[in-house]
Amino acid sequence: MLKPLRSLAVLAMVGGLVATVAIPAFAATAGVGTEEARTIQQMAVDDAQSFVAASDANATELSRGSYAATTAEEIEKRKAEEAAAERARQVAKAAAAAATRSSSSVPVNIALTSPGTGEVRWPILNFTKGRGLWDSGYHQGVDLLSSCGTPLYAAAAGVVKVSQESYGGYGVGVSIDHVIGGQQVNTLYGHMTYGSRQVSVGQSVAAGQLIGLVGSTGSSTACHLHFEVHINGSVVDPWAWLQANAG
Ligand SMILES: [Zn+2]
Repeated sequence: MLKPLRSLAVLAMVGGLVATVAIPAFAATAGVGTEEARTIQQMAVDDAQSFVAASDANATELSRGSYAATTAEEIEKRKAEEAAAERARQVAKAAAAAATRSSSSVPVNIALTSPGTGEVRWPILNFTKGRGLWDSGYHQGVDLLSSCGTPLYAAAAGVVKVSQESYGGYGVGVSIDHVIGGQQVNTLYGHMTYGSRQVSVGQSVAAGQLIGLVGSTGSSTACHLHFEVHINGSVVDPWAWLQANAG
């Protein structure tokens, strides 16, 4: 009778039916520590697997489960169990999101292109402007502060000139050659997240195409994009350039 009993418990969780069987899996949902979150995430996986098992349950088990809820106490208990299951699902969702963020791989649900329509696009969205060109000593670019993992986009269509995990002080860096308005323009993106580069040398990219993620690699102490613009070989103010052209 072990298997039918387990099926009853699963039906109570998944179908919202009531069983008098205790559900120990949801007993420990009070804390949200890392270890516990992982456990709950695993529980959610088990739950999902159980769902398949539940759909295989036969009609006899279904009818036995459905008339088990008779007293107010049992209904209260069922509500508490459903609330606990919902909390567990929320924790599992948060844990999965955190696991995605901490991973060096590219999350699947990020914006894959810069939303602009112009020939020149913002290489990053939702940032705070930091050091500008030549601010506080030698600084050939602009620092655009954002969370590590924020998508970075090609500022214009072009051909990838550099794509390296270790590009000197830039850390994980990409640079792209463009021809814009008949001029040779090069844009550079520094301090990206290890393993996040989406382009390789010689590759043609479209304006706004995802090239990697914000990081803090190389000579960097905080998550940000170091962005440079060179026109016909000369450094220009990338902030002024973006403001004049990007959209
Ligand atoms: Zn910088």
